[in-house]
Amino acid sequence: MSQAAYDVVIVGAGIVGAACAHEFVRRGMSTVIVDRDVIGGGATAAGMGHIVVMDDSEAQFALTRYSQQLWQALRAKLPDDVEYESCGTIWVATDNEEMSEVRRKHDYYAQRQVPTDVLDSETLARIEPNLRPGMAGGLLVPEDAVLYPPCAALFLVEHAWAQGAKLRLGASVTQIGHGRAKLSDGSEITAPIIVNAAGCFAPELTPGIDIKKRKGHLVITDRYPGFLRHQLVELGYLKSAHSVSADSVAFNVQPRRTGQLLIGSSRQYGADDKEVDHEILVRMLLRAQEYIPALAPMSAVRTWTGFRAATPDKLPLIGPSPGDASVFLATGHEGLGITTSLATARILVDQITGAKPAIPIEPYLPSRAAKECAHA
Ligand SMILES: Cc1cc2nc3c(=O)[nH]c(=O)nc-3n(C[C@H](O)[C@H](O)[C@H](O)COP(=O)(O)OP(=O)(O)OC[C@H]3O[C@@H](n4cnc5c(N)ncnc54)[C@H](O)[C@@H]3O)c2cc1C
Repeated sequence: MSQAAYDVVIVGAGIVGAACAHEFVRRGMSTVIVDRDVIGGGATAAGMGHIVVMDDSEAQFALTRYSQQLWQALRAKLPDDVEYESCGTIWVATDNEEMSEVRRKHDYYAQRQVPTDVLDSETLARIEPNLRPGMAGGLLVPEDAVLYPPCAALFLVEHAWAQGAKLRLGASVTQIGHGRAKLSDGSEITAPIIVNAAGCFAPELTPGIDIKKRKGHLVITDRYPGFLRHQLVELGYLKSAHSVSADSVAFNVQPRRTGQLLIGSSRQYGADDKEVDHEILVRMLLRAQEYIPALAPMSAVRTWTGFRAATPDKLPLIGPSPGDASVFLATGHEGLGITTSLATARILVDQITGAKPAIPIEPYLPSRAAKECAHA
């Protein structure tokens, strides 16, 4: 019998694998992280870095809020290049119907101790004067933040590394299970716990898990310091995130510390190539200009795409993989993996070490998919 070289092997050094490494090491477990690319080079490099509390479901709220609080607690330790800014989100309402959604959201958050402010039309125009005149108002969520995801992943991995974690970059894992991770060079790493944090590639290592790639486009502009003060998102964003078939775009613009504006976002299933799709890009930019006409003459310096790892019920898979006692999943975070990475790591390591998680874990257990099939 081979001797286990580590307590844990983590496949994937995106933000989720990085957060898991940070957490396993914090609990005193020997850990190796393996990635075929660089740290934070996958979806993590493509993401917007909006640390946002969301209320699509109770489970989504619990995970996003818990994780947001973990980011707040880590904030003092984050290096400057992580660019953590508590800029807050404003959910922008264009008409009275959307203002009723603002009030519903405000009540929901208030009942769960998340501070928010309902903004009337005049207040919104005063604090974000570049929005089109005549907006109905909005909801300010001041504890939402933004950060620069690749540097956040790097910080978490470096922290784990400084505490003894090992790192194997440029190493592709071809198979996991039965306490082993096989690498493409023919070598093996043994450990009683193997975490599949391979993002949208997780099904290649754990066949049968229901994760689909959901392509997104982003554009970053030249520097326009002071143009916006908050991350601005349209209230219709959820409708776009919900659409399970059609391509969709939504107004979502983020001010970066550099003065640049990060403009999103689009969602597409069945588009597996990395190429920029000009048709959807134009739709996305026109949508942004409907809200902020002054974006039109601005210079864009870069456009890119990335793939979210989407599950059918829009919740991540966090916990034991049905079928192999050594494999644990930490994937399927769709458009919220930067936000929820820290909470994912906490509740995963809680499950493994027998600690009591701060939030109920059942909604995220991979076994739920099997149960849903059994009840269907
Ligand atoms: C356009 C866009 C905007 C987004 N905006 C936000 C946002 O504002 N806020 C938010 O919270 N989230 C956002 N997201 C979502 C977020 O980026 C992802 O949920 C998150 O980055 C997922 O992290 P991950 O570590 O699971 O995956 P990844 O970052 O993709 O990491 C997986 C890693 O696994 C490695 N890997 C895969 N297979 C293997 C293998 N066989 N062997 C070795 N290594 C392997 C890859 O190289 C990669 O580094 C956005 C995503 C997109 C696409």
